[in-house]
Amino acid sequence: MLAWLIFVAEEGNLHSCTELPLQRNHLPICQFNDVRGRWDPPTHTSTSHLTSTKAITIHEGLAWLLCSLWLLVLEAVHCHCHCQWLSLPEVPSPSLYFTSLLFRLPFCFALSFSLLFQLQLSLPPVSDADGYLERTFLSPASVKAGNLIRQWMEEAGLRTWIDYMGNVHGRVEGRNESAEALLIGSHLDTVVDAGIFDGSLGIISALAALKVLNSNGKLQAVRRPIEVIAFSDEEGVRFQSTFLGSAAVAGILPASALHISDKSGVTVEDVLKDSSLDITEENLLKVKYEPRSVWGYVEVHIEQGPVLEHTGFPLAVVKGIAGQTRLKVTVRGSQGHAGTVPMSMRQDPMPAAAEGIVLLESLCKCPEEFLSYDGHCKSISLKSLSSSLVCTVGEITTWPSASNVIPGQVTFTIDLRTIDDMGREAVIYEFSNRMHQICDQRSVSCTIERKHDANAVLCDTELSMRLKSAAYSAVTRLTGEIQDEVPVLMSGAGHDAMAMSHLTKVGMLFVRCRGGVSHSPEENVLDEDVWTSGLAVLSFIETQL
Ligand SMILES: [Zn+2]
Repeated sequence: MLAWLIFVAEEGNLHSCTELPLQRNHLPICQFNDVRGRWDPPTHTSTSHLTSTKAITIHEGLAWLLCSLWLLVLEAVHCHCHCQWLSLPEVPSPSLYFTSLLFRLPFCFALSFSLLFQLQLSLPPVSDADGYLERTFLSPASVKAGNLIRQWMEEAGLRTWIDYMGNVHGRVEGRNESAEALLIGSHLDTVVDAGIFDGSLGIISALAALKVLNSNGKLQAVRRPIEVIAFSDEEGVRFQSTFLGSAAVAGILPASALHISDKSGVTVEDVLKDSSLDITEENLLKVKYEPRSVWGYVEVHIEQGPVLEHTGFPLAVVKGIAGQTRLKVTVRGSQGHAGTVPMSMRQDPMPAAAEGIVLLESLCKCPEEFLSYDGHCKSISLKSLSSSLVCTVGEITTWPSASNVIPGQVTFTIDLRTIDDMGREAVIYEFSNRMHQICDQRSVSCTIERKHDANAVLCDTELSMRLKSAAYSAVTRLTGEIQDEVPVLMSGAGHDAMAMSHLTKVGMLFVRCRGGVSHSPEENVLDEDVWTSGLAVLSFIETQL
């Protein structure tokens, strides 16, 4: 196998681009980690990890271009599969091969630039915090990131604008500007102390793909308008209200959302106006897209879970986004002295809560042992329910919370998600019944409140099929081998596609991330998987030519 090493000079120092073996699921690209010196293994703490970062210099940019050129040289050895990327015939002669290289040049450069984008988005100048990544709704870093993305959109040949909710749009009309548009997007905001791929990867992979088309002169040949949208808010960190950006585009954001305030009392409206966005209730309606003007919405996102890494495949098609219910369970008993009340005379809410939590775990691990097809559960597929059902008790509080006091009250939360909305209701019904029985047996009282409900979103079958073949084609193109079936996963996390499903049909691709870790500086995606995601979007868009 090829083993290669190149050195590039940067500010008087030598940095190495180490080799990757040409194996299944591997692409011979430079390990930009080494060039950048920042994507270190997770053994590094987040702080030390980031203090070594700095702005990308022109020298580093040149270094990356050199990497691209080297990749092209490597292709001389493996041209037979790369020619297929461009649908060129098998190369019969050196002259035709080098012609194919000229075609490939913009492709390699564009993907190299996409990696450059990715690092730029994560660097401290595009973060509100010192030493870690944080970009909340329309914060200074978010505005800066939005402007950078807008600049990249223009460089990719797109017409750009920023709407009244701060979403950044880049659009090409193609051959028929009155046709229904394909929207591709994700979010540019982050959580606090975030990873660099959540949201950004979806924007970058779309831009890289369109940049390739632009470089090849095919961008204007698309048969319907294609628009990339970088949504201003998905995480909801600042205003505790998710999807401010995409909900506005989908037309489901109520005008009352403009009056939500953050911890310092600043409202959404204030923030938008401070950013010179003339938001009014009337202008909010202008952000909304007409359903008849849109063909569909596609989103690429990191998986944020460990399944893809386990299967060994870089991409998955998303079947749907799980519906979710949040419950608050309050168990009340009789508060007392830990040393004086005999065990037989206690009304202790703590063991009742503990028994309920263990019951919940059993119920969610094996719902088929608790639910039956008679009664409330007639239309549920227990098999599909058990494969997607997850339940979490993430918060528990006691009163008065002292080591020498039998608590008077215990409260815990339940987060319950599944793709099967009927199944979710059945599990809640079953849990509630059994929890009340437990409390009765233990002579304590119990109330269960529903705090949040969101129905599942099923991805469109046709879009999913197209995304599946695009993912298959991308992985096969990169490895030159016939691949296994592309996995189909459910998303347990919410995404902009949830909001966009109120506007149009949606489809999603997941990208493998290391250890399934997300919302953390340890979040990481292999370089070749970043390439694969860009190539999958390109393959998908090529079906629109
Ligand atoms: Zn996200």
